[in-house]
Amino acid sequence: SPIIVWFRKDLRLRDNLALATAAESGRPVIPVYILEPASTGTGPLGAAQAWWLHHSLLALAASLKDIGSNLVLRSGPAEAVLASLISDTNANAVHWNRRYDPPGVSIDTALKEALTTNGLTVRSFSGQLLHEPTRLRTGGGTPYRVYTPFWRALEASGKPPEPVPAPTSLTCPASWPGSDNIEDWKLLPTHPNWAAEFADVWQPGEAGAQERLASFIENGIGDYRHGRDFPARSNTSRLSPHLSLGEISPADVWHATRGLGASVSAEDVIHFRKELAWRDFSYHLLFHFPELATKNWNPRFDAFSWSGSQDLFHRWTQGRTGYPIVDAGMRELWRYGTMHNRVRMIVASFLIKDLLIDWREGERWFRDTLVDADPASNAASWQWVAGSGADAAPFFRIFNPITQGEKFDPDGDYVRQFVPELAGLDARYIHKPFEAPQAALNEAGVRLGDTYPLPIVDHRKARSMAMAAYQSLE
Ligand code: FAD
Repeated sequence: SPIIVWFRKDLRLRDNLALATAAESGRPVIPVYILEPASTGTGPLGAAQAWWLHHSLLALAASLKDIGSNLVLRSGPAEAVLASLISDTNANAVHWNRRYDPPGVSIDTALKEALTTNGLTVRSFSGQLLHEPTRLRTGGGTPYRVYTPFWRALEASGKPPEPVPAPTSLTCPASWPGSDNIEDWKLLPTHPNWAAEFADVWQPGEAGAQERLASFIENGIGDYRHGRDFPARSNTSRLSPHLSLGEISPADVWHATRGLGASVSAEDVIHFRKELAWRDFSYHLLFHFPELATKNWNPRFDAFSWSGSQDLFHRWTQGRTGYPIVDAGMRELWRYGTMHNRVRMIVASFLIKDLLIDWREGERWFRDTLVDADPASNAASWQWVAGSGADAAPFFRIFNPITQGEKFDPDGDYVRQFVPELAGLDARYIHKPFEAPQAALNEAGVRLGDTYPLPIVDHRKARSMAMAAYQSLE
């Protein structure tokens, strides 16, 4: 009897235990991807990630073809889809790699029980994280809520398992069950095609992920610790969308950072692993505290009086706030489905603390527009910036968009790339065009309030309003 290998957030052949164990059995293997209905809790698939998923599935299907197999596409609730596949193919086993978002966990738990009761063998494996969220516990046996002890425990628990190679061939079933046509899933945008430029910077799929990793190890990690904060530099890996859909395993990434030789310092490697561990930590939190995705971790923030201004929110989404570093970030997001981590923190702080808009509005916008949209990292990071999260930055840490820009984009290269109407402005004013002398604006062809907006709020006043709103909670 065949084994069904159900692909989910593990769209890869390498270091895929569900697939490797099925291949080793020598039995026929039926690789399947199921487009499941939007689940509540962590929210539906965002539009930018849907673009990515489309291309990633095409890449996965091509890799499976190369090893003599096929990818079956189906849509609907997993339980019904698997039941019909099992009856069509006489499969008597299902393999998958575990997922850790709460709706996914509850679907999988129920399915495992139902399938096992019906006499099927269900085998689940790890691979989405460096460590199972159930494995790392505090001395008192509870889940971690604070990152630093979590990181220490993760580091002390040793190397993640060595990645397993991709199978070189798979046995086919006697006949292939029917498959949906991916075009019918309508994962790509149509009019307007806002994803037109995504493919200029991204290559979804396992090969793209491996190339990205190799190029980061070659050119980026060497100065990671320092360079990772500068959005115009290429010191970060840009692996997050690949990790988000599991085109590469975090263990594979971790092992690639071993034995790098003298050109890469131990601090750079450790710092990078610490960031990878933030991803694990976010899942650890979401797994143990599912409300992280939708509720203030710290209920004190439930009483916060948000401005809720739709107009200001809209200006933020469009990158028309009048603060160049914020606008550059929001436009990078729209154009390429991504944003540098430093700038994510700046724009998130600006939305929450300068515009007094609930972090959940920002989280939702990011979820729809980021190619790396991730239920755990997105929610945990938004709550971190808001100050409402577990182990969060304190609320009063309010980023100043001018000084942040000056510090982390000192020549204004990042702003010039994404806010071209300011490209000609002298670096002294690029982060505060509203303070530039008229002559400098004229020379750069900038007309404030016309070619580029005036600030939608005064940062200093907004800061005091935010502090007052926060203090009124006490
Ligand atoms: P690198 O610096 O190369 O880091 C390597 C990997 O570590 C990343 O690919 C990512 O998987 C992980 N990582 C790094 N930083 C973090 C972090 N702070 N939290 C969790 N994991 C991290 N990341 C997402 O993957 N999806 C999201 O939806 C997401 N939303 C965010 C929202 C906000 C408001 C903020 C401030 C951060 C968010 N992040 C999110 C975290 C971080 O910004 C991105 O993971 C990072 O920018 C990805 O770029 P990179 O791959 O070059 O990272």
